[in-house]
Amino acid sequence: MAISILGSTGSIGRQTLDILQSEHLAPGAPVLEVAALAAGASNLELLGKQIVDFEPELVAVPSDSDRESLRDILSDYFRSGKKTEILIGEEGLIACATHPAAKTVVTAVVGFLGVKPTLEAIKAGKTIALANKETMVAAGHLVNELAAKHGSKIVPVDSEHSAIYQSLEASILKAQAAGKSLEQAGEVEKLLLTGSGGPFRTWSEEAMARATVSDALKHPNWSMGAKITIDSATLMNKGLEVIEARWLFSIPAHKIEVVIHPQSILHSAVEFVDGSIVGQLGQPDMRLPIHFALYHPHRVPSARVPRLSLSELKDLTFEKPNFSRFPCLAMAQEVAAKDDSSACVLNAANEIAVDSFLKGKITFTDIARTIERTLSVHKPIKAPQLGDILEADRWAREKSVSLVAV
Ligand code: NAD
Ligand code: MG
Repeated sequence: MAISILGSTGSIGRQTLDILQSEHLAPGAPVLEVAALAAGASNLELLGKQIVDFEPELVAVPSDSDRESLRDILSDYFRSGKKTEILIGEEGLIACATHPAAKTVVTAVVGFLGVKPTLEAIKAGKTIALANKETMVAAGHLVNELAAKHGSKIVPVDSEHSAIYQSLEASILKAQAAGKSLEQAGEVEKLLLTGSGGPFRTWSEEAMARATVSDALKHPNWSMGAKITIDSATLMNKGLEVIEARWLFSIPAHKIEVVIHPQSILHSAVEFVDGSIVGQLGQPDMRLPIHFALYHPHRVPSARVPRLSLSELKDLTFEKPNFSRFPCLAMAQEVAAKDDSSACVLNAANEIAVDSFLKGKITFTDIARTIERTLSVHKPIKAPQLGDILEADRWAREKSVSLVAV
């Protein structure tokens, strides 16, 4: 079996390839080939090394000059007779997402960039190992419609959603067999989405207003790309995850409760109607949910996933989120209940605001303000189709760029 990875040089992409390295496979684990890799321009040396290690048939990079640089890096590889085609731009990304040999596509690019290739992979009937949550946020309705039509399976990589999926799998299968949605099957009381609370969990509003980029990039438990690390500091990450869960599990937003759990050991849970709570525990290490998604529906031994010893655990604590200090979470929860183009606008405004914060153009608390002001002038569209989503994204970026500039 083969896979494609979109965003192979990022945090999720690197950890996916780490699992696949033959010397890291546990005895009995099936070998997964790499059909295609796509990455941005920021680390072509690493992409070159990944190509030498995994010899994919196809690679995609953003531009013609990136392709030239990659060819230079790979001159020995090509001289030795190896064949890897290098495509560019959105077309290249989509070719990787739909490569005929790939059964599973790991969507590990960051942001709205993932929408079109993910939709194309779904149309090609691929299994999606979904890390790129922004696609589910901006286009969840469409993802579900197309996945049902083309028989494409979506397996979450996001650790919380993987935990919920693992806790719910029996209920999902029963509902499917009865031709019902999970909500119609009536077994689920609520989803309990846990989050660490990020680096500012205990900070005052005044301190957060003065937070620097390096303060916000210091996540207590997880090592991740810059965008999701800032989202974790504003708790927008948890908000995006509420919207992601709403579509992944077809559960209404009011049945999704965010619980702050600073130790990140219980990765999320499900409360059933009989009062039973079922959750999934593990070390805070993304290789665990990535491994689960790659081999699903099988449980395969892992030599890379670090083990959790329950007898060595000390305190596991839980608390309610503070919505007034973290307005991004409140905004996202409100948007999650709407099922319209507001989610796409929230996502786009957040991408612009986070990028502006990382570049030192706005303060930490301006992130929420920029999103709120963009959302307040959006005219939402119900059940948005691809054209509506692309237009809402374009409009929201333009609007929030103008807000950041003043
Ligand atoms: P990252 O910034 O570390 O990596 C992003 C990848 O996308 C890089 O390989 C980059 O080169 C690539 N990329 C950028 N522009 C591109 C382009 N034009 N064409 C092709 N590739 C391009 O991000 P990450 O932390 O790995 O996160 C990836 C996704 O997974 C995000 O949606 C994030 O929310 C989600 N996620 C990440 C984690 C985590 O632990 N990192 C956990 C849960 C979910
Ligand atoms: Mg997560």
